[in-house]
Amino acid sequence: MAVFVVGLTGGIGSGKTTVASMLATRGAHIIDCDGLGRLVAEPHGRAYGAIVAHFGHGIVGADGRLDRPALAGIVFSDPDALGALNAMTHPAIDAEILERLRTLPDDSIVVLDMAVLTESQLGAGIYQYVVVVEADPVGRIDRIIRRGLTEADARARMASQATDDQRRTIADLIVPNTGALDELERAVDIAWIAIRRAATPAAPAPD
Ligand code: ATP
Repeated sequence: MAVFVVGLTGGIGSGKTTVASMLATRGAHIIDCDGLGRLVAEPHGRAYGAIVAHFGHGIVGADGRLDRPALAGIVFSDPDALGALNAMTHPAIDAEILERLRTLPDDSIVVLDMAVLTESQLGAGIYQYVVVVEADPVGRIDRIIRRGLTEADARARMASQATDDQRRTIADLIVPNTGALDELERAVDIAWIAIRRAATPAAPAPD
């Protein structure tokens, strides 16, 4: 079996990073795609030059790194600018993912922890199976607030993302995160069995 690649997503505060680390303890290799998004925009990153050429030196800080609040201020209110930024960063992130996949032994199960899987083409053609973490909106807002955002910010971020229905249409598997962490562990046990089964090619039918 070659490397089997799972795309893992869920709304903000759904618990997808927690699920990713639970899958890691069961043997999955995790690739943090949000982290790769930051990496490609670093001065030596694959997308840095294109971003600066497009948005100008006004989005570069004194230390040569991107001024992220300035860039966020531009793309937050301008969908075309966001589209242009994604067109530069997403192929760069895909290239980073592929580079990492090449280093893994056959039979590895790889999980791409990817917040924007539903909203974008990021990783399309790379992942073979989609796992969606679903949690009730009240629990999600509580978790986001505990991280320091206001309730209004939490609701605005949730509204800017895909809906649960949209995520469900692309899911091969849904992991419910609706109770305590030990319940989530049990849900991840079940998910891990399903992922391993999906990763295992069916044996040829006997003659
Ligand atoms: P983001 O979209 O912002 O990256 P996320 O979906 O990856 O968020 P996590 O980072 O996994 O969410 O979870 C946010 C916080 O909530 C973490 O501190 C995590 O430990 C906690 N958490 C997640 N699920 C539960 C649960 N079922 N019970 C208690 N705490 C939980």
